Order: sequence, then C-alpha cells, then structure tokens
Amino acid sequence: MAYPEFPDHSRFTPVASVLAGAAEGEVTVRGWVYRTRSSGKLAFVVVRDGTGILQCTVSKAKVAAGDFDAACSALRESSVVVTGTPAADDRAPGGYELRVSGFEVLHYAETFPITQDLGDEHLLDNRHLWLRSRPMVDALKVRATAFGAFRGFWDSQGYTEVQSPSFVSGACEGGSSLFDTYYPDESAEGGKSFYAHLSQSWQLYAEATMFGLERIYTLAPSFRAEKSRTRRHLTEFWHGEVEAAWVHNEQMMAQEEAMLAAIITAVLARNRPELERLGRDPAVLEAVQPPFERLKYAEVLELLNGMGFDLAWGDDFGYREEKALTQERTQPLYITHFPREKGFYHRPDPADPKVLVCHDLLAPEGYGEIIGGGERVWSPEELAARIAEEGMEPESYGWYLDLRKFGSVPHSGFGLGLDRLVAWLCGADHIRDVIAFPRTMRRTTP
Ligand code: ATP
Ligand code: MG
Repeated sequence: MAYPEFPDHSRFTPVASVLAGAAEGEVTVRGWVYRTRSSGKLAFVVVRDGTGILQCTVSKAKVAAGDFDAACSALRESSVVVTGTPAADDRAPGGYELRVSGFEVLHYAETFPITQDLGDEHLLDNRHLWLRSRPMVDALKVRATAFGAFRGFWDSQGYTEVQSPSFVSGACEGGSSLFDTYYPDESAEGGKSFYAHLSQSWQLYAEATMFGLERIYTLAPSFRAEKSRTRRHLTEFWHGEVEAAWVHNEQMMAQEEAMLAAIITAVLARNRPELERLGRDPAVLEAVQPPFERLKYAEVLELLNGMGFDLAWGDDFGYREEKALTQERTQPLYITHFPREKGFYHRPDPADPKVLVCHDLLAPEGYGEIIGGGERVWSPEELAARIAEEGMEPESYGWYLDLRKFGSVPHSGFGLGLDRLVAWLCGADHIRDVIAFPRTMRRTTP
C-alpha cells in the first residue's frame, strides 16, 4: 500500500486522556490493534497506544461500509486511526469506550507470531515484537522511573554525573568474568591487533575522577562474562555507581538507604497501575522502611549453616544462599565484614584485618544482592601490599597506584544493579523481564 502523508499530530488524542475522562466531544486516537471481536453488526476493536488501551466499538450501521470491513479484518498489531466519541462504560477496560464514527487502517499487519503460551524461548526470539506487550511496556515504565529517580536522588545530594570508558585494560572484579574484545590496530606490526576488556565496573576510573569532583555517580552498562546462569545475571547490565571522598562505609550505607527509599517513592507515585498489572502488590513496596537490618558475614555463615548449608569461612554466597537468606524477608538486608579475599580495593578493617569495611545489600523475597559497596584502601603502602597479596601485576595498575601518591583520602562507594532492582520492584520472575534486549551468555539476538 501507499503510505499516507505524515499526519498532523495536533489531531490526535492520547488514549490515556480518553480513559481519564478528559476528552470532550469527538476525538481521534491512533495506535495498534490489540485484539478484535466482531459479530455481523458490531466490532469491538481494542486499540493500544503508548499510553494505554481503549475499546473502540464499531457499529456497522454508524460507519461507512468500508470502515466496518476494515475494523473487522485488521489483524492484531495493524496500525489504525480511529475517530469517535468517548463514553463511560463499565464493561470496557479502563471504564471508557470509543463509539466509532470513522475507522482507518494505516497498515494491515501480517499474522502476529506471538500468541499465548508459546514459551520463553519463543518470546525471547521475538523480543523485537514482544516489546509491544503490556508486561514489557509496564516493566519498562517502572524501569524508566527507577533510572530517573536514581539520577534525581544523587543530583539532589550534590553529586555530579560522570562517564567512564567501556574499553579498559585492567580488571577490577576478577578475571573469570572478564570479556576480551578484539581491538583492531591497523598500525601494529604485521597488522596485529591487541585485546581490550569490557568494563566490569567504573570503580578504578571513579576513584581517579573523584579527586576533582569529590562526589560523583554514573549510570552505565557493565559487562561480565557470567559463568553462572541465573535469573539475576546478565552479561550486559546497567550499573548505577557512586563514589565519594571523605565518606565512610556507614555513611555510604545510610545514603543508599535514602536512595532506595526515594526510588520506591517515585515508583509508587508514578507506576501503581503498571505494578498492579504486573501482579505486584504496591503494599509490598510501601512497607519497605530503612534502616535495614545489618548482619556480619560471620553471622550469616552461621545462619546459613543452621539452615543446612555447609559453608566455610571465605565461601561466596551464591543464588541459593541468598535466596534462602531473603525469601522470607520483607525488608532488604545488609551483610557487612566480608573476608578480605573479596577484592583488592576494599579496605581491610583496621580492628580486624581478616575482614573488610564493606557491605552488600540483599533485596527481600529471594531476589538477593542488589548493591555491593564499601570503603576503599586509601593508604598507598596498603594498596601496593594488597595487589601483591592477590598475586596481581602491579604494572597493570600503575595509574591506579598513582592516585594514592597525590593527596590520598578516605573514600567509599558502591554499585547498584539497576536491572536487579527493577526486577525486585516489579516482582519479576527473571531479570530479563525488565530489560528491552537482554544480553546473557546464550543470547545476543535480537
Ligand atoms: P553476584 O555475586 O550476584 O554475581 P557481584 O558480587 O559480582 O554479584 P558486584 O561486583 O558487587 O556484584 O556488583 C555490584 C552490583 O551489580 C551487584 O550487587 C548487582 O546488583 C549488580 N550485578 C553484578 N553482576 C551482575 C550481572 N551479571 N547482572 C546483573 N546485575 C549484576
Ligand atoms: Mg558476580
């Protein structure tokens, strides 16, 4: 078909304003066919746009013959322009319907490949189309609110947003989840190329940037070649990271609590309908109230072993452990005082150097870790010793070591997994349900 001229936007009314009862007289909406039911004389076409879904009732007697045929024959996802008069109707979704006077099809869709009950893999293969579904649209709206609230909170606290590179040369979270990327260097001898890594965290760069701005944050993708295939691991995830000079661990935890409260408040203010459609009871989020309980790693170890786990000092808590620990909880839980093996840049506790001045925050209901943070080693001697102790090559961290030579200061920071946070806020079964194009070890398409 020939596409019509690009239409005049001022003619159209968003579905949401029809549903809010704000539209007067005849209106024109545009969108996509969501579902259709028709008899010989009447067609009920539910149309969705970016703001909502609206039942359009087309009576054969009240429209041109061609318009009625169009309404009956346009398959799901056909793009349409519908004119009519809004009327309150309890039986219609949203309490309003449109009594149609004109029905125009802009583009007749082919048979949509997604029908009910086709399984997760099919939906993932068709993610480019599934993004039109209500659960996806609702989750993406909650996600957008959470991202905005994250930024808004740190801006309001006087933090400056900065960006760090995605191509990096050193690891900060352990080599096993590091992505090596081909980095073409045409000028190299024999046309050889070298490898760069994809950033696992902005950590080292944040510490460098902090000296100029003192309090900084970022919102960016981090990359981890996760061997663990769980409901909460992506290979590319969105990382909200914060770093601040002169701030100690406890202060950072208090700020995180305030941040989470602010994000939850924003989502409750803006996304109640989305949460409800997703089957998430907003009361669960309303009940979340800092300060959150704090347990030491050693205490958690004991708790878990009491539940039947067989964990020794130094063992990591994985999905099973964190699930057991949090599934009956309604409030997030802090774990502190992890063993010093957790990472070279965390500051060992001066009072007990076998543990670190650090924390993880676990979301309740089995969602597990959403934040990892703590104080950084700031003494130059201690940092060099830690790098040696971990068997790492000091040459790879030359510039990072430099930071400790010019006015080093105590500082803290953390990383928040935004996708994990949103999965919890939405009550999602899987982290991939809350990101448009999930990247996992097995999937880079579509
Ligand atoms: P896990 O033990 O669950 O793999 P981690 O200890 O590796 O997490 P950190 O290095 O502390 O995580 O990263 C900070 C935060 O980033 C985590 O608390 C989590 O919310 C998020 N995160 C880390 N890895 C992933 C991932 N693969 N997918 C999604 N989010 C992640
Ligand atoms: Mg990990």
